[in-house]
This record gives sequence, structure tokens and C-alpha cells, in this order.
Amino acid sequence: MKDKIFVVRDAVSLFLKKQARSKYILAFLFQSSRILASFEVSPLALECVKLLDGNHSLGQIARMKKITQKNLLRLIHYLESENLIEERWERTKEELRYSRQLNFFASFEEREIKRENFQKKIEDARVVVLGAGGIGTWLIESLVRSGVGQITVIDPDVIALSNLSRQTFFTEKDIGKAKVEIVKKHAAAINSMVKIKPVQRLIVSPRDLRPFVKNATLVINCSDYPDVSVTNDIVSRACFTYGIPHILCGGYAGHLSFVGQTVIPHQSSCWRCYVEGGIYERGLNGFTHMAITRSSVEGGTLAAIASMTANIHALEALKVITGYAEPAMLNAKAEWDFLSLSLTKITVSKNKYCSLCGENAQKRRIRK
Ligand SMILES: [Zn+2]
Repeated sequence: MKDKIFVVRDAVSLFLKKQARSKYILAFLFQSSRILASFEVSPLALECVKLLDGNHSLGQIARMKKITQKNLLRLIHYLESENLIEERWERTKEELRYSRQLNFFASFEEREIKRENFQKKIEDARVVVLGAGGIGTWLIESLVRSGVGQITVIDPDVIALSNLSRQTFFTEKDIGKAKVEIVKKHAAAINSMVKIKPVQRLIVSPRDLRPFVKNATLVINCSDYPDVSVTNDIVSRACFTYGIPHILCGGYAGHLSFVGQTVIPHQSSCWRCYVEGGIYERGLNGFTHMAITRSSVEGGTLAAIASMTANIHALEALKVITGYAEPAMLNAKAEWDFLSLSLTKITVSKNKYCSLCGENAQKRRIRK
């Protein structure tokens, strides 16, 4: 025990307040949750805590501060049980790569679920991303850096000069090349542990998509061709066939961006609950959406807006994959106004008459 080295957790900050009779109140602030834990300590205990810097073993601290092993261990066990300190360990190369990410997950550790378990789930995940454009490329880059084990990237396009102002991965040298191949090349340079499966293909029906999503952990729609409502429909129907969680990324237009639903089949509301509920455009009740492909009209945007919109969804993806927190976009859609930086969230309730997830739809599937 005396050779062990303990360190105050990275995400914990310490504050001190002097009390009467040479006592101190020592406060530990968890940076990620803003939770504060405080207790009274003696000057000797305070001196010992200061040496929990990752450089001193317990034996050294006991000798330096002339504190008995028993009293030092009592202090260490208390701080450890409160999740304020942890034993320092030698990190492997992969743990060094993900060290900040592991520290992030440390805030969500429970007795049975350690930070390594969250990381393992990411490495075991098989994610399918439909569309490698303004949303897809930024989202894929985040997932690659996080270490998602396998990412199937589906997109029919080649890189154009106009893509470079808002899509990551692509350079001037890549113009005219298949997007999915260039994503694979640059992703490998960032994180060789991630397997990218490029699929250069236009998906026009759930039938086209089913073979790719069958064994997926998560499917993410980042495609708006011919229209995002069409691709959301395709992704939702393909995913419901196998009960696969899916994220329906929104898009952006000028200073507005749209944050789409995170769907866990048969637990949360789905895309059709939203469409058939007529929730968003109340003034259009009784209308049905008519998809038009407008190849000559392109909504104005910036790389900054595309990347932020994409990364909200990337964060949702990590929540679905690891379960470290409940996805924020379950049963919800949101609109983000970048002029004022305000977010308006609306509830999308599960509709029991929904044609995709409602009771009758489920019975139809069972009969089949
Ligand atoms: Zn539904």
C-alpha cells in the first residue's frame, strides 16, 4: 500500500477556507457537474492532500508529514470513497490517445461502470452514416477521433470546390474524387484504429439501406438528397425493420439550424410520430409535405454553423453508444438560432396511432 500513488481527479478543483481553532474547510468542486463536496480538515490532513499530486507515494507522504499509516489510509479511503481522488496508473498507448476522453467519462463512472467500459462500447460500436456533406463529415470526424470501431460511410458524390468552405476532411487536391474514399483516407491518418467502410452509392429506398444497417449499433442520417424528409423516412423505415437506434440530423438555413430526433425504436417517438403529429408547422395542418429536388438552389451556411450542428448530433451518438447520459433529443426536436444563440426545443410525443411505431404498425409487423 505504501508504494501506491494517489492523485486528485483531473476534473476536480480544490478550494480552501480557514476556520477557527486552526481548522480548514476543504471544498472539492466537480467541474463537469458543478457538485461541491466540502468537509473540515486539520492542518496535517490538508498538508497530506496537497501531496496527492501524482508524484508522491503514500509511504513518502507518511514520512514527510510524520503522519501514521493508519491515519493517512483513513484519509485516503475517505477521499477515494467520495470519488475525489484515484490511484495513478501507467497508461497504455491507447489510453494516452484517449486520456482526456477517459477523464470525461470519469465523471459518469458508477460502481460497476468504469471509464474504460464507456470507451470499450465506443470501440465496439458499428455506426452507419448516410451522407458525407456539411453535417456528415464533421460528425464522422468527431466519431473517428473518439475511436468508434467501425463507420460505414454512404455517399454517391465526388468532391466539388464548393464543398471546401463548409465540409471537413476535404482539400483542394481531393476535388473530383469520391467523398467516401477521401473520408477513409483522412480518417485513417487521424485514427488508424477506426475501420471506415466506404460505400459510394445513392440510397433511394429502405430496401437499398437495409443490408448496411442490419447489424449496426446506430444509424445517423446526414443526407438531404433529394430532401431531408425523404432520407429521414428511408432511414427510419430501414432501422425499424431491425429495431436499430437512429439519429435524424437536422440541417441549417442561414442562421437557423435544426437539431433532429434521436430515436430508440419502441421506446421513444419516431420520425413518423413527428410528421403525422403535424407538430411543427401548425399553420400547415391538413397539408402533406411535397419533396422537390432543387439542385440549383443551395441554402446559405458557414463551416462554423455546419460543424456545430453536426457535433450536437455527434454528442447524441456518443450518448446512445455508451449510455453515459440519456440522449437530449429523445422525444424532441430543436431549432438553434445562431444570431442570438438561443435554442428552442419542442416535445415530440410518441403517437400510439403512428404508422411506423404505433400499436397497429407493430401488430402488422408481427403478422408479417
Ligand atoms: Zn412513431
